[in-house]
Amino acid sequence: MKHIVIVGGGFAGLQAAKILGKYKNTFKVTLLDKNNHHLFQPLLYQVATAGLSQSDIAVPIRSILSKFRNISVLQGTATDIDFENNRLITDYKNIDFDYLILACGVKHSYFGNSDWEKFAPGLKTLEQAMEIRRRILSAFEKAEREQNLSKRKKYQTFVVVGGGPTGVELAGSIGEMTRYALVKDFRSIDPKLTRIILIEAGERILSSFNPNQSSRATRDLEKLGVQVWTSSPVSTIDDTGIMVDNERIETETVLWAAGISATELNNRLGVDLNRHGQIIVQDDLSIKNHNNIFVAGDQACFCGKDGNPLPCLSPVAIQQGTNIAKNIVRENKKLSRKKFKYRNKGAMATIGKSKAIADFGFLKFQGFTAWFLWLFVHIYFITGFNNRFFIFIKWCTSYITNKKGARIILNNSWRFFDKKTD
Ligand SMILES: Cc1cc2nc3c(=O)[nH]c(=O)nc-3n(C[C@H](O)[C@H](O)[C@H](O)COP(=O)(O)OP(=O)(O)OC[C@H]3O[C@@H](n4cnc5c(N)ncnc54)[C@H](O)[C@@H]3O)c2cc1C
Repeated sequence: MKHIVIVGGGFAGLQAAKILGKYKNTFKVTLLDKNNHHLFQPLLYQVATAGLSQSDIAVPIRSILSKFRNISVLQGTATDIDFENNRLITDYKNIDFDYLILACGVKHSYFGNSDWEKFAPGLKTLEQAMEIRRRILSAFEKAEREQNLSKRKKYQTFVVVGGGPTGVELAGSIGEMTRYALVKDFRSIDPKLTRIILIEAGERILSSFNPNQSSRATRDLEKLGVQVWTSSPVSTIDDTGIMVDNERIETETVLWAAGISATELNNRLGVDLNRHGQIIVQDDLSIKNHNNIFVAGDQACFCGKDGNPLPCLSPVAIQQGTNIAKNIVRENKKLSRKKFKYRNKGAMATIGKSKAIADFGFLKFQGFTAWFLWLFVHIYFITGFNNRFFIFIKWCTSYITNKKGARIILNNSWRFFDKKTD
């Protein structure tokens, strides 16, 4: 029986596992992940801004795969590969494989300034989302008890770096929070006077959408009180503020949503990497000279029809996980592998309640229609019936009441900084 090892229980790894799990007499599968849960990253910003709880968007990988008797799930970190002996090196044991699927995702890039991370946490993991939530809510608590007006202003200033979908969602959600959810809860401060700045180095936000749609998103953000600064590269960040070009913004809350860089593992493998450190794969998603080792999802660099690398999106990861699993099945039946072809089904970004943009090629939507589609797609794709049901109820409630239910501050920052985020 062939042994397939999958590293990473994100969108790509999980998808491959679900397909291979159907061949219980042909394959034995081991899925290794450093966390015990699959995380629905597209809704992380909702946890960071107190709209949802951690368990709404994370499900134990073990429980998702429990019906597949040929799949074992292990919690551990892959640290290297012994290519000669087809052996995966992990932090607690070595695992031999016939096929290996790497699907480890990416982390944020601070463009060579890794010391900025402690001042400006990124949003990739549940720990980071909880840390961002703690910083946002604590800033309002500090402002409420502060008498000095310039300090109060500093606490009520939030800067989000990166005008991609994550930055837009975060900034929009903070805007909504200040305008609706928090508005009646404070006595000394007016949450509506909070300054929220979204900073983008490029000429416009949401650059993967067409210019009309990114202008619409800018206008929607401005309605929520978000200032959008484009062509504004960050030069430094410290614990009391951020320098953008030559302007200093005093704030204790800077949030990072820019750039990607691959995990440490890639650097150790001695394989071809692109400038972000993603592994350059062949047309069947295998690594050059190692045709039994595949890479899927964000960790892979695969160029689309236009010659550019495919974006880091969940449909790319899911389709690649499918392609790899099906090719392994084909090979086992002595059939040749199929090349990977990405089918782009469109892109969406949400800005706030009833505010979103959606681009399905010839069909483009904005406003309520786009937001409703966004809602439907996210409910549909979230793993597990319980999550779907509870998220739907929570969204309906918060839509009607404008409340954010998960506004609890946990003082756990020591854990965030102790833990390496790679
Ligand atoms: C805040 C945010 C919002 C997003 N919004 C959208 C959106 O609206 N639409 C969209 O399509 N996409 C969105 N994305 C992108 C999408 O989530 C990713 O493209 C997708 O998660 C990639 O899937 P993956 O399987 O490659 O990696 P991931 O989902 O990142 O999974 C990687 C897994 O590998 C594990 N892992 C990492 N290193 C190791 C190791 N060394 N050993 C063992 N395990 C390891 C991790 O714990 C993780 O479980 C968003 C991403 C973020 C962060």
